[in-house]
Amino acid sequence: MINMPLHVVWLRHDLRYHDNQALYAASLAAQADNGRVVAVFIATAQSWQQHDMAPIRQDLLRRRVVALTTELSTLNIPLWAVEGTDYQHCVTVFQQLLSMGMVALYAQQEYELREARRDSAVTQLLSQFNCPVHWFDRLCVMPPGSVLTQQGDIYKVFTPFKRNWLAALAAKGVQCFPKPLAQQGEPIQPPDWPAMQPGDDSSIAWSVTEHDVLNKMRAFCQSKVHDYANDRDLPAIEGTSSLSAYLAIGVISAQQCVARLQLEANNALAVEKSGASVWLSELIWREFYKHILVAFPKLIKHHAFQADTDKIVWPNAPTLFEAWCKGETGYPIVDAAMRQLNNTGWMHNRLRMITASFLVKDLHIDWRWGERYFMSKLIDGDFAANNGGWQWAASTGTDAAPYFRIFNPVTQSERFDAKGDFIRRYIPALATKTAKEIHWPHKPITPRGYHAPVVDHNNARKVTLALFTAVKGKE
Ligand code: FAD
Repeated sequence: MINMPLHVVWLRHDLRYHDNQALYAASLAAQADNGRVVAVFIATAQSWQQHDMAPIRQDLLRRRVVALTTELSTLNIPLWAVEGTDYQHCVTVFQQLLSMGMVALYAQQEYELREARRDSAVTQLLSQFNCPVHWFDRLCVMPPGSVLTQQGDIYKVFTPFKRNWLAALAAKGVQCFPKPLAQQGEPIQPPDWPAMQPGDDSSIAWSVTEHDVLNKMRAFCQSKVHDYANDRDLPAIEGTSSLSAYLAIGVISAQQCVARLQLEANNALAVEKSGASVWLSELIWREFYKHILVAFPKLIKHHAFQADTDKIVWPNAPTLFEAWCKGETGYPIVDAAMRQLNNTGWMHNRLRMITASFLVKDLHIDWRWGERYFMSKLIDGDFAANNGGWQWAASTGTDAAPYFRIFNPVTQSERFDAKGDFIRRYIPALATKTAKEIHWPHKPITPRGYHAPVVDHNNARKVTLALFTAVKGKE
């Protein structure tokens, strides 16, 4: 038992100390009752596996926790990172913290099913000991359920959602919280818990200090954002922010991004289709999918948003799936994109759209196979964004691409990688092809070291139309 009230902050996907409302609120409460703030992080690898969390994303999380431990120590706030087995382990951790003098818990809400169950088990435990739990809804600038139609319904279409979201922003503004107050007193000894395992360093190319990540975001808002409307679709250049991995684990918040965007580019935000307003739209897409996920829990169970499309009997040929996963389909833009994902753990948004469309509408494989594969590889894997992106591309989701809109992978390649620079980077066998040849290098014959096309796009397109028309409107 520690001889002072302990205000415990349970860090999860909010691994930062700036703009962390839970940490800030706990530090105020500790100041008021002469208590202390203690932060905990519980690594539950088994649950990560159930979510198909990519090893590189797990590594980023683990490295970030270590960095945050150092950062918080400058405020004399200990971060105890413990290796748990599963969610039940969290209950055990809090039982021990109660016995040490815990008087309140502070945490940011999470929306997925298992996480919600875990949180209610912990809340139930703490309520038996009259220990209050303070939940903060900060994963989005506008929390789920706060942007509704005039009838009080959830928006299922993005454009009106965005309009209303922007109206809410204009009315309420965006609030960021200061860093927690530094704590006074002797260091508090951690309990005898199994310490969190180190990662495998697979994410080492990604800096994990809050300082670097904030600087990256600020630099983007100062300069690159102005060209974003043009550059964001070109995978050969670094035209996007590359912040998704950090937003996914909360090294920065969407609130910080919006506040900085307003500071650096407020005039541009008023101009429709300016780089700044298009980037803000992307941050709103992130929120749109989280709102949809909370309102329609069936999505968490991987059901299609459009129920009739769940009736499609996908052929699911394993050899085609394998060719797609390995980047060996014979369609250079698809293969280069998949190799980018496999080699780096990240893929450009335009390429996520192309490869997802190709898997479903050219290879006729259930979008859930691709959704799962992406999660198992992405450093920024995020259930809502990934599910939303896949269901958009597969024409099964809310406000999705219409099913008859089928990307032609060669035309997409010519349009968005016109010189072939991106393809050359990932497919050495095509390095000497000209800008004209590289998008379809099979004439007169497929180059040595590359792959013959696994399907004919025009035939595949007809099959897709037939698969959809067979079920449309039949729930
Ligand atoms: P920027 O272009 O700089 O955008 C800024 C931020 O806005 C991103 O970091 C991200 O948080 C958010 N964002 C941008 N586009 C979208 C979008 N379409 N939907 C939701 N949020 C968006 N994004 C993820 O964060 N995790 C995923 O697991 C994920 N899976 C996807 C799967 C598919 C099939 C598709 C089509 C898209 C997916 N996205 C996912 C969305 C998008 O591709 C990435 O957010 C983006 O490529 C990340 O790069 P960036 O940080 O440079 O983005």
